[in-house]
Amino acid sequence: MSAIDVQARLAELAAEASVCTACKLCDQRTQAVFADGSPTADLMFIGEGPGQHEDEQGLPFVGRGGQLLNRLLDGVGMKREDVYIANVVKCRPPRNRDPQPDEIEACKHFLADQIRLVDPAVVMTMGNFSTKLLLKTQTGITRMRGMVVPWWGRVVIPTFHPAAALRNGEKMVATMQGDFELAAQTIAEHQRAPEPPAADPSAEPEQLGLFG
Ligand code: SF4
Repeated sequence: MSAIDVQARLAELAAEASVCTACKLCDQRTQAVFADGSPTADLMFIGEGPGQHEDEQGLPFVGRGGQLLNRLLDGVGMKREDVYIANVVKCRPPRNRDPQPDEIEACKHFLADQIRLVDPAVVMTMGNFSTKLLLKTQTGITRMRGMVVPWWGRVVIPTFHPAAALRNGEKMVATMQGDFELAAQTIAEHQRAPEPPAADPSAEPEQLGLFG
């Protein structure tokens, strides 16, 4: 699929999310927050769900967490527009509570399509929710972070959620910076690797089962 087709399909999905009523998070949202960044990015971030600023502006990671994300990207020579940023749920949970299992279940098809379309070499899951969803693990983020886990022809590198680092201080920020450096190094190795054989189109439906 060409980059233009990918962009068009992502725009269709964003439009679907904007009117989605598949879970109760639609009740109090200002707007759905679908994604931000490049549809051809090598690096994709997956957070948890929109907060107040994201709900108001319609973009993921725009508050203090977004500023930290930008700073961490800057530390590895990347910009926000070089990466793709999405969340597990597209609508803000009231009072920033955790997304509930039925809400994640209802919303996860959007994320599966985003990953399949953007096709990044590295996915950084930020925090417990996205890490547990993708890697089907009950192990917490403190133990998972910094691992390089092969996943559907790419790798997942879990790291802390920026909101957690803002609460916990510079030591956690420094740990995250190390995870970002690992991701940048992994992407550089991927770019140096020989081009893999073209994907078998018959494997496509299997991709839709990313989250089982
Ligand atoms: S969170 Fe996802 S499933 Fe729920 S209403 Fe929003 S877009 Fe639909």
